[in-house]
Amino acid sequence: MSNVLNNFLDENLADLREQGLYNDIDPVEGANGPTIQVKGQSLVNLSSNNYLGLATNDELKKIAQATIETHGVGAGAVRTINGTLDVHVKLEETLAKFKGTEAAISYQSGFNCNMAAISAVMDKNDAILSDQLNHASIIDGCRLSKAKIIAYNHSDMDDLRAKAKAATESGLYNKVMVITDGVFSMDGDIAKLPEIVEIAKEFDLITYVDDAHGSGVTGKGAGTVKHFGLQNEIDFQIGTLSKAIGVVGGYVAGKKNLIDWLKVRSRPFLFSTALPPGDVAAITRAVEMIMESTELHDKLWDNGDYLKRGLAELGFNIGDSETPITPCIIGDEKLTQQFSKRLFEEGVYAKSIVFPTVPKGTGRVRNMPTAAHTKDMLDDAIAAYAKVGRELGIIQ
Ligand code: PMP
Repeated sequence: MSNVLNNFLDENLADLREQGLYNDIDPVEGANGPTIQVKGQSLVNLSSNNYLGLATNDELKKIAQATIETHGVGAGAVRTINGTLDVHVKLEETLAKFKGTEAAISYQSGFNCNMAAISAVMDKNDAILSDQLNHASIIDGCRLSKAKIIAYNHSDMDDLRAKAKAATESGLYNKVMVITDGVFSMDGDIAKLPEIVEIAKEFDLITYVDDAHGSGVTGKGAGTVKHFGLQNEIDFQIGTLSKAIGVVGGYVAGKKNLIDWLKVRSRPFLFSTALPPGDVAAITRAVEMIMESTELHDKLWDNGDYLKRGLAELGFNIGDSETPITPCIIGDEKLTQQFSKRLFEEGVYAKSIVFPTVPKGTGRVRNMPTAAHTKDMLDDAIAAYAKVGRELGIIQ
């Protein structure tokens, strides 16, 4: 190994460990369901994005298994050579129906979807207005495009309007895009899409919404864009297939000419092997299930309300979430980490999230209830919160 690399790694790893910022990963032993096993201990799981419980759904498992029998475990090539199998076409037709658009294109992950889609359309002669709290994959996608990135204060529509006006009137840019998460995963708040669309119309901005945490959750399952009835106003509807849908992958839904362009210009579509067929078949059925019934969606919201009520009644600060995402804001970073560790010992897996993922002094334990949790599981979690909260002096 190069000495330069060796020294770089050793010094930086030691530094991270000293600051308590090195994330040691304890694997989940088995499936990632409403309860999980970690280090031999059974825990109520409040940290997965498996909102509807579909990651372990029996019907989806059977469909994946049957498709592996007929189509194999791998797609065999990138989409543009011969990795586009019949199952991929069916998935993309289903996604377009789900999102109310002319067409859709799938990618291997939500992360690489953002890398793919932004850089296929934006370049160094363009500008992107980006919410300050947008997800890392959006930030990286913007950087990859080489467009000028102009961050606006989180959900601050006055700031967005002022920056949109300045960017479009400067004459410096060919195209200007506004890009936002649909649901912000650290606080559970929803983007102000009606105002964003109004500003976009005023200044002819391209609109891009990454609804990774909204699809399956908001809009009776259809997502945040449909929640506001804006499916004809948003140019790029991005989603992930790994959270409420329960499998893996990402997609863009939009007008046919946009999807046609992405098929010839988005690099992960051209140069990275297509999603495996078993996964694709399971994803397609999962999307159909969300369109057919709101049962899981309703259960998710009911569980979210139940957990929020339980924690708020104990006196915890649960922020202003508008979705089932339930942050429990502790503040101090070390105390937040200690809180999460004690919860683990009391049988609850709820990860601490601290700076730099969230601003300094707003450390939190983030809870992600799902449709698969029972009230007994949530009661156990609330009881553990009560015990640890009193012990650490966070609640009376
Ligand atoms: N976008 C947003 C807003 C996300 O929260 C995430 C999730 N980590 C992603 C994209 C990436 O999705 P995936 O995990 O499917 O790569």
